[in-house]
Amino acid sequence: MIQGLSALNPAGKRVLLRCDLNVPLKDGGDGRRVIADDGRIRASLPTIQELLAVGVSLVIIAHLGRPKGEARGELSLEPVAKRLAELLGQEVIFSPEITGSTVLEKINRLEIGQVLLLENIRFSPAETSKDDQARLEFAKQLAMYGDLFVSDGFGAVHRKHASVFELAHLLPHAAGKLIAAEVAVLDKLTQSPERPYGVVLGGAKVSDKIGVISNLLDKVDVLVIGGGMLFTFLAAQGKEIGKSLFEVESVDLVKELLARAEKIGVRVLLPSDIWVAPAFANDSPSLVSVDQIPSNQMGLDIGPESARAFASAIRECATVFWNGPMGVFEFPNFASGTRSVAQALSEVSGLSVVGGGDSAAAVRAMGFSDSDFGYISTGGGASLEYLEGKELPGLIALR
Ligand code: ADP
Ligand code: MG
Repeated sequence: MIQGLSALNPAGKRVLLRCDLNVPLKDGGDGRRVIADDGRIRASLPTIQELLAVGVSLVIIAHLGRPKGEARGELSLEPVAKRLAELLGQEVIFSPEITGSTVLEKINRLEIGQVLLLENIRFSPAETSKDDQARLEFAKQLAMYGDLFVSDGFGAVHRKHASVFELAHLLPHAAGKLIAAEVAVLDKLTQSPERPYGVVLGGAKVSDKIGVISNLLDKVDVLVIGGGMLFTFLAAQGKEIGKSLFEVESVDLVKELLARAEKIGVRVLLPSDIWVAPAFANDSPSLVSVDQIPSNQMGLDIGPESARAFASAIRECATVFWNGPMGVFEFPNFASGTRSVAQALSEVSGLSVVGGGDSAAAVRAMGFSDSDFGYISTGGGASLEYLEGKELPGLIALR
Protein backbone atom coordinates (compact mmCIF):
# COMPACT_ATOMS: atom_id res chain seq x y z
CA MET A 1 0.00 0.00 0.00
CA ILE A 2 1.16 3.52 -0.81
CA GLN A 3 0.30 6.18 1.76
CA GLY A 4 -1.80 9.07 0.53
CA LEU A 5 -1.62 12.71 1.57
CA SER A 6 -4.17 12.31 4.35
CA ALA A 7 -1.72 10.15 6.29
CA LEU A 8 0.78 12.99 6.68
CA ASN A 9 -0.71 15.75 8.81
CA PRO A 10 1.21 18.46 6.97
CA ALA A 11 -0.44 21.56 8.46
CA GLY A 12 2.13 24.14 9.53
CA LYS A 13 5.04 22.17 8.08
CA ARG A 14 7.51 22.79 5.30
CA VAL A 15 6.80 20.23 2.61
CA LEU A 16 9.28 19.08 0.01
CA LEU A 17 7.27 18.14 -3.08
CA ARG A 18 8.63 16.21 -6.07
CA CYS A 19 6.61 17.14 -9.15
CA ASP A 20 6.84 16.18 -12.80
CA LEU A 21 7.08 19.53 -14.57
CA ASN A 22 8.92 18.04 -17.54
CA VAL A 23 6.93 19.88 -20.21
CA PRO A 24 7.69 19.68 -23.93
CA LEU A 25 9.32 22.88 -25.23
CA LYS A 26 9.18 24.45 -28.66
CA ASP A 27 10.87 27.30 -30.47
CA GLY A 28 9.18 30.55 -29.52
CA GLY A 29 10.20 32.15 -32.83
CA ASP A 30 12.66 34.65 -31.33
CA GLY A 31 15.20 31.96 -30.45
CA ARG A 32 13.66 31.41 -27.02
CA ARG A 33 12.28 28.04 -25.98
CA VAL A 34 8.67 28.19 -24.81
CA ILE A 35 6.32 25.67 -23.20
CA ALA A 36 4.53 23.67 -25.93
CA ASP A 37 2.06 21.92 -23.64
CA ASP A 38 1.53 22.76 -19.97
CA GLY A 39 -0.40 19.55 -19.22
CA ARG A 40 2.12 18.30 -16.67
CA ILE A 41 2.07 21.62 -14.79
CA ARG A 42 -1.73 21.53 -14.68
CA ALA A 43 -1.68 17.91 -13.54
CA SER A 44 0.52 18.93 -10.60
CA LEU A 45 -1.91 21.59 -9.36
CA PRO A 46 -4.34 19.46 -7.30
CA THR A 47 -1.64 18.32 -4.89
CA ILE A 48 -0.02 21.77 -4.67
CA GLN A 49 -3.38 23.40 -4.04
CA GLU A 50 -4.46 20.85 -1.47
CA LEU A 51 -1.21 21.27 0.46
CA LEU A 52 -1.44 25.07 0.34
CA ALA A 53 -5.05 24.90 1.51
CA VAL A 54 -3.98 22.84 4.54
CA GLY A 55 -1.38 25.49 5.37
CA VAL A 56 2.19 24.54 4.48
CA SER A 57 5.17 26.17 2.85
CA LEU A 58 6.25 24.32 -0.28
CA VAL A 59 9.63 23.58 -1.80
CA ILE A 60 9.11 21.99 -5.21
CA ILE A 61 11.70 19.79 -6.90
CA ALA A 62 11.38 18.93 -10.58
CA HIS A 63 13.41 18.21 -13.70
CA LEU A 64 13.28 19.23 -17.34
CA GLY A 65 14.70 17.14 -20.15
CA ARG A 66 18.04 15.40 -19.94
CA PRO A 67 20.76 17.95 -19.10
CA LYS A 68 23.09 15.11 -18.05
CA GLY A 69 24.31 16.80 -14.86
CA GLU A 70 25.18 20.14 -16.43
CA ALA A 71 23.48 23.53 -16.08
CA ARG A 72 22.02 24.18 -19.53
CA GLY A 73 20.15 27.45 -19.97
CA GLU A 74 17.65 26.05 -22.47
CA LEU A 75 16.56 23.45 -19.88
CA SER A 76 16.06 25.92 -17.03
CA LEU A 77 12.82 25.60 -15.08
CA GLU A 78 12.46 29.37 -14.85
CA PRO A 79 9.73 29.57 -17.57
CA VAL A 80 7.95 26.73 -15.77
CA ALA A 81 8.02 28.73 -12.51
CA LYS A 82 6.34 31.61 -14.36
CA ARG A 83 3.64 29.38 -15.81
CA LEU A 84 3.06 27.68 -12.45
CA ALA A 85 2.64 31.11 -10.83
CA GLU A 86 0.05 32.08 -13.47
CA LEU A 87 -1.90 28.85 -12.98
CA LEU A 88 -1.75 29.06 -9.18
CA GLY A 89 -2.52 32.76 -9.10
CA GLN A 90 0.30 33.42 -6.66
CA GLU A 91 4.01 34.09 -6.57
CA VAL A 92 6.40 31.18 -7.17
CA ILE A 93 9.88 31.99 -5.93
CA PHE A 94 12.47 30.54 -8.28
CA SER A 95 15.83 29.41 -6.93
CA PRO A 96 18.55 29.15 -9.58
CA GLU A 97 20.72 27.39 -6.99
CA ILE A 98 19.93 23.80 -6.03
CA THR A 99 22.30 23.47 -3.10
CA GLY A 100 24.36 25.80 -0.93
CA SER A 101 23.79 28.48 1.67
CA THR A 102 21.84 30.93 -0.56
CA VAL A 103 19.09 28.47 -1.30
CA LEU A 104 18.99 27.25 2.30
CA GLU A 105 18.51 30.84 3.51
CA LYS A 106 15.71 31.40 0.99
CA ILE A 107 14.01 28.22 2.13
CA ASN A 108 14.36 29.05 5.80
CA ARG A 109 12.64 32.39 5.16
CA LEU A 110 9.63 30.74 3.46
CA GLU A 111 6.33 31.41 5.19
CA ILE A 112 3.21 29.27 5.29
CA GLY A 113 1.44 29.62 1.95
CA GLN A 114 4.62 30.42 0.00
CA VAL A 115 5.97 28.30 -2.86
CA LEU A 116 9.57 27.95 -4.02
CA LEU A 117 10.69 26.01 -7.09
CA LEU A 118 14.26 24.78 -7.32
CA GLU A 119 16.13 24.89 -10.64
CA ASN A 120 16.17 21.70 -12.76
CA ILE A 121 17.32 19.06 -10.30
CA ARG A 122 19.09 17.16 -13.09
CA PHE A 123 21.60 20.02 -13.38
CA SER A 124 23.17 18.24 -10.38
CA PRO A 125 25.01 15.13 -11.58
CA ALA A 126 24.26 13.35 -8.28
CA GLU A 127 20.51 13.31 -8.99
CA THR A 128 20.86 10.70 -11.72
CA SER A 129 24.19 9.19 -10.64
CA LYS A 130 24.62 5.42 -10.89
CA ASP A 131 26.55 5.58 -7.62
CA ASP A 132 24.10 4.80 -4.77
CA GLN A 133 26.23 6.64 -2.22
CA ALA A 134 26.43 9.81 -4.36
CA ARG A 135 22.64 9.85 -4.75
CA LEU A 136 22.14 9.27 -1.02
CA GLU A 137 24.49 12.12 -0.07
CA PHE A 138 22.67 14.45 -2.45
CA ALA A 139 19.28 13.34 -1.11
CA LYS A 140 20.48 14.14 2.42
CA GLN A 141 21.14 17.73 1.32
CA LEU A 142 17.68 17.96 -0.23
CA ALA A 143 16.09 16.47 2.89
CA MET A 144 17.24 19.55 4.85
CA TYR A 145 14.76 21.62 2.81
CA GLY A 146 11.65 20.10 4.36
CA ASP A 147 9.97 18.37 7.29
CA LEU A 148 7.98 16.04 5.07
CA PHE A 149 8.28 14.65 1.57
CA VAL A 150 5.42 14.32 -0.88
CA SER A 151 6.19 12.46 -4.08
CA ASP A 152 3.94 13.37 -7.00
CA GLY A 153 6.16 13.28 -10.08
CA PHE A 154 4.58 10.25 -11.66
CA GLY A 155 6.52 10.70 -14.91
CA ALA A 156 9.79 10.03 -13.03
CA VAL A 157 8.81 7.16 -10.73
CA HIS A 158 10.47 4.59 -12.98
CA ARG A 159 13.81 6.27 -12.28
CA LYS A 160 16.02 5.43 -9.34
CA HIS A 161 17.02 9.05 -8.87
CA ALA A 162 17.89 10.87 -5.65
CA SER A 163 14.78 13.07 -5.51
CA VAL A 164 12.54 10.16 -6.51
CA PHE A 165 13.94 7.23 -4.57
CA GLU A 166 16.49 8.07 -1.85
CA LEU A 167 14.70 11.18 -0.60
CA ALA A 168 11.63 9.13 0.33
CA HIS A 169 13.79 7.09 2.70
CA LEU A 170 14.96 10.16 4.60
CA LEU A 171 11.71 11.94 5.51
CA PRO A 172 8.16 11.01 6.51
CA HIS A 173 6.50 10.68 3.12
CA ALA A 174 3.34 10.17 1.13
CA ALA A 175 2.20 10.02 -2.48
CA GLY A 176 0.46 13.04 -3.93
CA LYS A 177 -2.88 13.05 -5.72
CA LEU A 178 -1.41 12.71 -9.22
CA ILE A 179 0.47 9.54 -8.38
CA ALA A 180 -2.65 8.16 -6.69
CA ALA A 181 -4.77 8.95 -9.76
CA GLU A 182 -2.25 7.51 -12.24
CA VAL A 183 -1.85 4.29 -10.28
CA ALA A 184 -5.64 3.87 -9.99
CA VAL A 185 -6.10 4.18 -13.76
CA LEU A 186 -3.18 1.92 -14.61
CA ASP A 187 -4.47 -0.69 -12.16
CA LYS A 188 -7.79 -0.68 -14.02
CA LEU A 189 -5.90 -1.31 -17.26
CA THR A 190 -3.95 -4.24 -15.85
CA GLN A 191 -6.27 -5.87 -13.34
CA SER A 192 -9.81 -6.10 -14.59
CA PRO A 193 -10.32 -4.15 -17.79
CA GLU A 194 -13.79 -4.22 -19.24
CA ARG A 195 -13.80 -6.06 -22.58
CA PRO A 196 -13.36 -5.73 -25.41
CA TYR A 197 -9.98 -4.29 -24.50
CA GLY A 198 -7.81 -2.63 -27.14
CA VAL A 199 -4.22 -1.45 -26.90
CA VAL A 200 -3.04 0.98 -29.56
CA LEU A 201 0.68 1.53 -29.88
CA GLY A 202 2.72 3.80 -32.09
CA GLY A 203 5.60 6.19 -31.68
CA ALA A 204 9.18 5.85 -32.66
CA LYS A 205 10.70 2.77 -31.07
CA VAL A 206 9.47 -0.82 -30.86
CA SER A 207 12.04 -1.58 -28.19
CA ASP A 208 10.32 0.95 -25.86
CA LYS A 209 6.97 -0.79 -26.19
CA ILE A 210 7.70 -4.44 -26.72
CA GLY A 211 7.59 -5.22 -22.98
CA VAL A 212 4.09 -3.74 -22.74
CA ILE A 213 2.87 -5.75 -25.70
CA SER A 214 4.31 -8.87 -24.19
CA ASN A 215 2.76 -8.27 -20.74
CA LEU A 216 -0.67 -7.22 -22.02
CA LEU A 217 -1.03 -9.66 -24.91
CA ASP A 218 -2.96 -12.23 -22.86
CA LYS A 219 -5.34 -9.57 -21.57
CA VAL A 220 -6.26 -7.71 -24.76
CA ASP A 221 -8.72 -8.49 -27.53
CA VAL A 222 -7.14 -6.30 -30.16
CA LEU A 223 -3.67 -4.85 -30.57
CA VAL A 224 -3.39 -1.95 -33.01
CA ILE A 225 0.06 -1.03 -34.31
CA GLY A 226 1.02 2.22 -36.04
CA GLY A 227 3.81 4.82 -35.90
CA GLY A 228 7.43 4.24 -36.71
CA MET A 229 7.35 0.91 -34.88
CA LEU A 230 4.94 -0.64 -37.37
CA PHE A 231 7.70 -1.03 -39.95
CA THR A 232 9.60 -3.49 -37.78
CA PHE A 233 6.33 -5.50 -37.69
CA LEU A 234 6.05 -5.32 -41.48
CA ALA A 235 9.68 -6.35 -41.84
CA ALA A 236 9.01 -9.30 -39.53
CA GLN A 237 6.25 -10.31 -41.97
CA GLY A 238 8.79 -10.19 -44.78
CA LYS A 239 7.55 -6.96 -46.36
CA GLU A 240 9.64 -4.29 -48.11
CA ILE A 241 9.77 -1.20 -45.86
CA GLY A 242 12.07 1.05 -47.90
CA LYS A 243 13.84 3.68 -45.83
CA SER A 244 11.30 3.54 -42.96
CA LEU A 245 12.33 3.30 -39.31
CA PHE A 246 13.54 -0.21 -38.58
CA GLU A 247 14.96 -1.94 -35.51
CA VAL A 248 16.62 -5.07 -36.73
CA GLU A 249 17.37 -6.27 -33.18
CA SER A 250 13.62 -6.41 -32.38
CA VAL A 251 12.57 -8.52 -35.36
CA ASP A 252 12.81 -11.88 -33.60
CA LEU A 253 10.80 -10.67 -30.62
CA VAL A 254 8.16 -9.22 -32.91
CA LYS A 255 7.91 -12.52 -34.78
CA GLU A 256 7.43 -14.34 -31.47
CA LEU A 257 4.74 -11.88 -30.38
CA LEU A 258 2.88 -12.22 -33.66
CA ALA A 259 2.98 -16.02 -33.36
CA ARG A 260 1.77 -15.89 -29.75
CA ALA A 261 -1.05 -13.50 -30.67
CA GLU A 262 -2.22 -15.85 -33.40
CA LYS A 263 -2.10 -18.84 -31.06
CA ILE A 264 -4.19 -17.20 -28.34
CA GLY A 265 -6.57 -15.51 -30.75
CA VAL A 266 -5.63 -11.87 -30.21
CA ARG A 267 -6.36 -9.72 -33.25
CA VAL A 268 -3.32 -7.73 -34.39
CA LEU A 269 -4.31 -4.84 -36.61
CA LEU A 270 -1.61 -3.45 -38.89
CA PRO A 271 -2.16 -0.78 -41.56
CA SER A 272 -3.19 -1.62 -45.13
CA ASP A 273 -2.04 1.69 -46.64
CA ILE A 274 0.81 4.05 -45.79
CA TRP A 275 1.76 7.66 -46.49
CA VAL A 276 5.35 7.67 -47.70
CA ALA A 277 7.85 10.40 -48.64
CA PRO A 278 11.36 10.45 -50.08
CA ALA A 279 12.84 12.04 -46.94
CA PHE A 280 12.03 12.86 -43.31
CA ALA A 281 10.23 16.12 -44.09
CA ASN A 282 6.74 17.49 -44.63
CA ASP A 283 7.17 17.31 -48.44
CA SER A 284 5.97 15.11 -51.31
CA PRO A 285 3.62 12.66 -49.59
CA SER A 286 2.29 9.75 -51.64
CA LEU A 287 -0.13 7.02 -50.64
CA VAL A 288 0.86 3.42 -51.24
CA SER A 289 -0.43 -0.02 -50.32
CA VAL A 290 1.41 -1.64 -47.44
CA ASP A 291 2.70 -4.25 -49.90
CA GLN A 292 4.16 -1.63 -52.22
CA ILE A 293 6.41 0.62 -50.17
CA PRO A 294 9.05 1.85 -52.65
CA SER A 295 12.61 1.02 -51.64
CA ASN A 296 13.65 4.70 -51.86
CA GLN A 297 10.81 6.08 -49.70
CA MET A 298 9.97 6.05 -46.00
CA GLY A 299 6.63 5.54 -44.28
CA LEU A 300 5.60 8.58 -42.23
CA ASP A 301 1.91 7.95 -41.42
CA ILE A 302 -0.82 5.35 -41.74
CA GLY A 303 -3.10 5.86 -44.75
CA PRO A 304 -6.83 6.79 -44.71
CA GLU A 305 -8.12 3.22 -45.17
CA SER A 306 -5.99 2.08 -42.21
CA ALA A 307 -7.11 5.07 -40.15
CA ARG A 308 -10.76 4.11 -40.74
CA ALA A 309 -10.11 0.48 -39.81
CA PHE A 310 -8.16 1.51 -36.68
CA ALA A 311 -10.91 3.94 -35.67
CA SER A 312 -13.67 1.39 -35.99
CA ALA A 313 -11.72 -1.22 -34.01
CA ILE A 314 -11.11 1.39 -31.29
CA ARG A 315 -14.74 2.49 -31.13
CA GLU A 316 -15.82 -1.11 -30.52
CA CYS A 317 -13.72 -1.33 -27.36
CA ALA A 318 -14.94 -0.79 -23.81
CA THR A 319 -11.38 -0.13 -22.62
CA VAL A 320 -8.59 1.39 -24.73
CA PHE A 321 -5.04 2.33 -23.90
CA TRP A 322 -3.17 4.35 -26.51
CA ASN A 323 0.51 5.27 -26.46
CA GLY A 324 2.49 6.71 -29.34
CA PRO A 325 1.49 8.79 -32.39
CA MET A 326 0.47 6.93 -35.56
CA GLY A 327 2.79 9.02 -37.72
CA VAL A 328 5.13 12.00 -37.70
CA PHE A 329 2.32 14.28 -36.51
CA GLU A 330 4.79 17.18 -36.17
CA PHE A 331 4.58 17.42 -40.00
CA PRO A 332 1.02 18.50 -40.95
CA ASN A 333 1.00 16.19 -44.00
CA PHE A 334 1.55 13.19 -41.72
CA ALA A 335 -0.76 14.03 -38.82
CA SER A 336 -4.04 12.59 -40.06
CA GLY A 337 -3.56 9.04 -38.74
CA THR A 338 -2.90 10.35 -35.24
CA ARG A 339 -5.92 12.66 -35.49
CA SER A 340 -8.24 9.79 -36.55
CA VAL A 341 -7.08 7.61 -33.67
CA ALA A 342 -7.49 10.48 -31.19
CA GLN A 343 -10.99 11.14 -32.55
CA ALA A 344 -11.94 7.46 -32.20
CA LEU A 345 -10.62 7.35 -28.63
CA SER A 346 -12.70 10.40 -27.76
CA GLU A 347 -15.79 8.47 -28.95
CA VAL A 348 -15.18 5.41 -26.78
CA SER A 349 -17.95 5.15 -24.23
CA GLY A 350 -15.92 3.10 -21.76
CA LEU A 351 -12.47 3.96 -20.41
CA SER A 352 -10.03 5.56 -22.86
CA VAL A 353 -6.52 6.36 -21.69
CA VAL A 354 -3.89 8.34 -23.59
CA GLY A 355 -0.32 7.81 -22.39
CA GLY A 356 3.00 9.25 -23.51
CA GLY A 357 4.37 12.78 -23.59
CA ASP A 358 4.27 13.18 -27.36
CA SER A 359 0.84 11.58 -27.67
CA ALA A 360 -0.64 13.86 -25.01
CA ALA A 361 0.96 16.93 -26.59
CA ALA A 362 -0.28 15.81 -30.04
CA VAL A 363 -3.92 15.46 -29.00
CA ARG A 364 -3.93 18.80 -27.20
CA ALA A 365 -2.23 20.51 -30.18
CA MET A 366 -4.97 19.03 -32.40
CA GLY A 367 -7.59 20.78 -30.32
CA PHE A 368 -8.81 17.88 -28.20
CA SER A 369 -9.28 18.64 -24.54
CA ASP A 370 -8.52 16.45 -21.56
CA SER A 371 -12.23 15.84 -20.98
CA ASP A 372 -12.53 14.17 -24.42
CA PHE A 373 -10.74 11.16 -22.96
CA GLY A 374 -11.17 9.04 -19.86
CA TYR A 375 -7.69 9.96 -18.73
CA ILE A 376 -4.54 11.50 -20.15
CA SER A 377 -1.62 10.01 -18.31
CA THR A 378 1.36 12.26 -17.59
CA GLY A 379 3.68 9.29 -17.63
CA GLY A 380 5.41 8.11 -20.78
CA GLY A 381 8.05 5.61 -19.76
CA ALA A 382 6.58 5.35 -16.26
CA SER A 383 3.13 4.27 -17.50
CA LEU A 384 4.67 1.82 -19.94
CA GLU A 385 6.87 0.24 -17.30
CA TYR A 386 3.89 0.02 -14.93
CA LEU A 387 1.89 -1.72 -17.64
CA GLU A 388 4.84 -4.02 -18.27
CA GLY A 389 4.31 -5.22 -14.72
CA LYS A 390 7.64 -3.83 -13.49
CA GLU A 391 8.17 -2.59 -9.94
CA LEU A 392 8.94 1.13 -10.12
CA PRO A 393 11.60 2.48 -7.72
CA GLY A 394 9.71 5.70 -6.99
CA LEU A 395 6.62 3.73 -5.95
CA ILE A 396 8.52 1.09 -3.98
CA ALA A 397 10.09 3.91 -1.98
CA LEU A 398 6.65 5.15 -0.93
CA ARG A 399 5.40 1.88 0.50
P1 ADP B 1 5.16 9.07 -26.67
O1 ADP B 1 6.01 10.22 -26.19
O2 ADP B 1 3.72 9.46 -26.83
O3 ADP B 1 5.37 7.84 -25.85
P2 ADP B 1 7.13 8.26 -28.58
O4 ADP B 1 8.12 9.14 -27.92
O5 ADP B 1 7.27 6.80 -28.51
O6 ADP B 1 5.65 8.68 -28.15
O7 ADP B 1 7.12 8.59 -30.15
C1 ADP B 1 6.80 9.87 -30.64
C2 ADP B 1 7.54 10.14 -31.91
O8 ADP B 1 7.34 9.11 -32.87
C3 ADP B 1 7.04 11.41 -32.56
O9 ADP B 1 8.05 12.40 -32.48
C4 ADP B 1 6.76 10.99 -34.00
O10 ADP B 1 7.23 11.91 -34.95
C5 ADP B 1 7.50 9.68 -34.12
N1 ADP B 1 6.96 8.86 -35.21
C6 ADP B 1 5.71 8.42 -35.37
N2 ADP B 1 5.57 7.74 -36.53
C7 ADP B 1 6.78 7.75 -37.12
C8 ADP B 1 7.28 7.25 -38.37
N3 ADP B 1 6.51 6.58 -39.21
N4 ADP B 1 8.59 7.46 -38.65
C9 ADP B 1 9.37 8.14 -37.78
N5 ADP B 1 8.96 8.65 -36.61
C10 ADP B 1 7.68 8.46 -36.28
MG1 MG C 1 8.14 10.61 -26.43
